Amino acid sequence: MQTHEIRKRFLDHFERAGHTVVPSASLILDDPTLLFVNAGMVPFKPYFLGEATAPYPRATSIQKCVRTGDIDEVGKTSRHNTFFQMAGNFSFGDYFKEGAIEHAWNLVTGSEADGGYGLDPNRIWVTVYHDDDEAAGLWKRIAGLPEERVQRRGMQDNFWSMGVPGPCGPSSEIYYDRGPAHGPDGGPVVDEDRFVEIWNLVFMQDIRGEGPGKEGYPILGTLPAKNIDTGLGVERLAALLQGVDNVYETDLVRPVIERAEALTGRRYGTNPVDDVRFRVIADHARSGVMLIADGVTPGNEARGYVLRRLLRRIVRSARLLGVTDPVLGDFSAVVRDAMAPAYPELATDYARIEAVMRAEENTFLTTLASGSKIFDLAAGETKAAGGTTFSGDKAFQLHDTYGFPIDLTMEMAAEAGLTVDEDGFRKLMAEQRARAKADAAARKTGHGDRSVYRELLDRGATEFTGYEELESEATVL
Ligand code: ATP
Ligand code: MG
Ligand code: MG
Ligand code: MG
Repeated sequence: MQTHEIRKRFLDHFERAGHTVVPSASLILDDPTLLFVNAGMVPFKPYFLGEATAPYPRATSIQKCVRTGDIDEVGKTSRHNTFFQMAGNFSFGDYFKEGAIEHAWNLVTGSEADGGYGLDPNRIWVTVYHDDDEAAGLWKRIAGLPEERVQRRGMQDNFWSMGVPGPCGPSSEIYYDRGPAHGPDGGPVVDEDRFVEIWNLVFMQDIRGEGPGKEGYPILGTLPAKNIDTGLGVERLAALLQGVDNVYETDLVRPVIERAEALTGRRYGTNPVDDVRFRVIADHARSGVMLIADGVTPGNEARGYVLRRLLRRIVRSARLLGVTDPVLGDFSAVVRDAMAPAYPELATDYARIEAVMRAEENTFLTTLASGSKIFDLAAGETKAAGGTTFSGDKAFQLHDTYGFPIDLTMEMAAEAGLTVDEDGFRKLMAEQRARAKADAAARKTGHGDRSVYRELLDRGATEFTGYEELESEATVL
């Protein structure tokens, strides 16, 4: 089943059940807690918080999402995109747990002829919050799931909250068992590569307060109106329904891999290191196009920096696959062709998107050319002196003068058989930030929250998940 059909079936199912179909919001919303929209519920936040009254009791959408916190997973797990589409159904004080579970079960396991996705019910496992007996009971009654396939989890995994004080409640997640070839038995609690999470149902029922209490916080009371917020990963379902191994091989992402094969002359599926690069290219090309379409331009702060990092990683990955010519124009065109049927603005605004891509690639290629010389020189000296560590000083200079992200320096160092003195690099970065802060304070302007983003990014690849702190599940789904 193609992605467009998956999208259509979702919206049709919920529209038939009285939900208003709401178009995807932009990836960029005016929300200080978020860099990018990262869940389907984000545009509906005011309704859930009670700041505004929902104009409909039920809604459904397929929301564009970007999760920068997942960037390090891309290409390595089978299920993490930086850009993906989250299909959701929402109830604002209307139906609750029973309705949400019934809908999800019917759609996921309903036959294709009846408009469902036709997944084998015997392969479905679910998780519930550990004391949510009500949800566990509903799964057994509605879906007939045996005890073993209703697993219980704690706060970390199956409890959701938004703000303090704010709405909160248990969640329940639906997993599909890909079979023993993909990992050990035991359900999602044991292995999430074999048991792939496809759908998260959030039951907003209580108000969370501050201070000690149940598992570290008190429940102040129940919400006057209970809400439902769900999110189904369209790409994950597509991978399952198309019988491919991972989200990068689905109908709308795979064409970029094929284009990369043509450009590089290498074959996807030949060696695992190259494969990760192919998948990174395919994933990031799509995110890049979608972000530019929504108005982001590459830069050195916040959103622009994320976009810049995604685009530069594509160029880098293509080089590692042996191509030094510009590639972003090619990949963008493939993304446009795949995605424009659902997002027509990609076609109508393509000239601008492509121009942004090309300009960034040219800037980066110039940067790479001059920075690589400095890098090679310093790496050569280090090795000649019998050293194995690329100095923090040089890494800092590359960053500061040539705009080399630390992950790029680390990658190049690794290829040269060196490690980078990361501590030294970070110390210099911290000193620079302290100076910038002092300057800003002196000028009484400052860049406030933006420097926070920058700081997180500068902590480098391994800690890039710092974004999760901003886009945390504590803030949104
Ligand atoms: P995981 O544990 O696999 O990282 P999650 O619990 O972070 O997923 P949720 O926040 O519950 O995901 O989001 C709802 C749904 O969106 C998930 O069940 C999944 O199908 C999909 N989803 C989440 N993150 C991604 C991603 N990075 N790429 C593709 N789909 C995703
Ligand atoms: Mg996740
Ligand atoms: Mg999860
Ligand atoms: Mg989840």
